[in-house]
Amino acid sequence: MVSRVIPVDDFDLVIFGGTGDLARRKILPGLFRRFCSGQMPKDARIIGAARSDMDDAGFRQMVRDAIAEFGGKNATECDELDAFLAALHYVTIDARGEGGWSELAGKMRSGVVRAFYFSVGPGLFGDLAQRLKTHNLADDDSRIVVEKPFGRDLASAKALNKDLATYFDESQIYRIDHYLGKETVQNLMAVRFGNVLFEPLWNSQYVDHIQITVAETVGVGGRGGYYDKSGAMRDMVQNHLMQLLCLIAMEPPSKFDPDAVRDEKLKVIRALDPVDSHHIVRGQYAADGDKNSYRDDVENPKSFVESFIAMKVHLSNWRWAGTPFYLRTGKCMKARSSEITVVFKDAPHSIFGADEGRHRNVLSIQLQPNEGMTLDVTIKEPGPGGMRLVDVPLDMTFADALGPEAEDVPDAYERLIMDVIRGNQTLFMRGDEVEAAWAWTDPLIEGWQARNDVPKPYEQGSNGPEDALMLMHRDGRRWREIKG
Ligand code: NAD
Repeated sequence: MVSRVIPVDDFDLVIFGGTGDLARRKILPGLFRRFCSGQMPKDARIIGAARSDMDDAGFRQMVRDAIAEFGGKNATECDELDAFLAALHYVTIDARGEGGWSELAGKMRSGVVRAFYFSVGPGLFGDLAQRLKTHNLADDDSRIVVEKPFGRDLASAKALNKDLATYFDESQIYRIDHYLGKETVQNLMAVRFGNVLFEPLWNSQYVDHIQITVAETVGVGGRGGYYDKSGAMRDMVQNHLMQLLCLIAMEPPSKFDPDAVRDEKLKVIRALDPVDSHHIVRGQYAADGDKNSYRDDVENPKSFVESFIAMKVHLSNWRWAGTPFYLRTGKCMKARSSEITVVFKDAPHSIFGADEGRHRNVLSIQLQPNEGMTLDVTIKEPGPGGMRLVDVPLDMTFADALGPEAEDVPDAYERLIMDVIRGNQTLFMRGDEVEAAWAWTDPLIEGWQARNDVPKPYEQGSNGPEDALMLMHRDGRRWREIKG
C-alpha cells in the first residue's frame, strides 16, 4: 500500500513548557517523527518557551537527548535529525511576567499557521492566553492547545473556560485528550459507521453489556502530591474513560465533522444517570514487601483518595436503556492494558442443546499496549466428535492486509498536533463536553466524601479489590481478564 502522508500547511508552533516532561517524552519526539515522515514542512518552526535559562543551542541539545531516549526506532533510523533540530528555537519566558514576550514575537513569522501548546499546569492557562493577546502574538486564526487536567470540578472547569473564552473563540481552543488520538479509537468510529454489520446490533436489544478497562502497572510514582488531590475518578474517568464511553455509545453523527461528532458525544454525557453508591468500588493499592502502599507513595497516612475505581453506569436513552456499562481503572494492576469490550447477548435459542453452554459474540477493542480489534465468533470445533462449539477471535487489525504502514501509525500526540495545524477539532474536547463531564462527576465525588467512604485495599499486581469483581458477579457477569 502506498503511504498517504499529506503535508500540513507551514506553521510556527510555540510549546510553553517546552523543557518539561511531557514536551521531552511525547511532543518533541512526536514532531520529529512527523518531520521524518514528510508531514511537517521543512520551513516550519518549533519554539520552546519555558522558565529555564537556555539558548537555541541548549534547547536543541536537550531535544537531541530527548529523541535519543524517547524517539523509538525513528531515533536511529531517520537521518534527518540535524535538519529537524535546525527548525527549533528557544525563548526564556515567564508566563506570569512580561519577560521574554517581545523576544518570542521576534522569532515568529507572519503568514503561517500559529499554534501555541500550553504544556504547563492549568494555573498558567489564563496568564498565557492573556499575554498572547496583549503582545499581539495571536490572531483570529491562531490556535491554542491545552493539556489535562482541565479543572478539578465543574466550578474550576467553568472558570478555565471563561478565562480562555475572554481571549480566544471556542473554534481556536484544542483541549487534548490523547486517548482520542489513538488509531484504534478512530478505527472504532470507522467500524461502527463505515459498515452496515455492527450498527443494527449496537443497542440494548443485542448488547448485553459493555466494559471499559484502563489498567496501569505503575503506581503514582513521583506524582504523589498531585495525584492525592485528584484520584482515579478525576485523573482518568472524568476524561479518558468518559471519552471512550462517548464514542462507543453515541448516535451516528450526520457527518464526520467536529461539531456533529461533539454534539453526539455531549448527548451521551448528558444521558448518564447518577450512579448508585453500591455500584461504585474504590480501592487503594496496599504495601507489598518493600514496595510502598498508595498512602506511603502520597505521604498521607490518612488519604481516602482512590488509586482504583470500578463502577456500573447506565445511560437513560432509547438506545442503551437497560444495558450496563462497567468502567474500571487503576494503578499497580496486573498488566498495562486499555480495552473496550462489547459483549453481545446470547443467540435467542440454541439449536445445539444446553450442553454446549454459553457462546457469545464479543467485540474487543484494545488501545494499549498494542492497538487492535478482535471479534469473537462461535464456530464448530474442528474434527470428529460431533457438533462442539468454540469461540475464536477474528482479528480485525488488518495489519497484514494494509502492509507495514498499518503498524507504523503515528502516536496519539503527533496525530493530534497535526490536527491542530490542519484546524480540525474533531478529536478534541469542546468546552461544554468537559463541563458536562464534571457536572456528572462532581456529585459522585461529593457523595463518597460525605459518606466518608474508605477505599478498599488491593494487592499490587492484581485485578483490584475483590468488591470490584463482585460488582459484576452479582449481575451474573465477569470482567475480561486484564492481559498486557
Ligand atoms: P513539568 O513540571 O515537567 O514541566 C513544566 C514546564 O512548564 C517546564 O518547562 C517549566 O519551565 C514550565 N513553566 C512552569 N512555570 C512556568 C512559568 N511561570 N512560565 C513559563 N514556563 C513555566 O510538567 P509536565 O509533566 O511536562 O506537564 C505539563 C502539563 O501537561 C501539565 O498540565 C500536566 O498536567 C500535563 N500532562 C502531563 C503529562 C506527562 O506525561 N508529563 C501527561 C498528561 C498531561
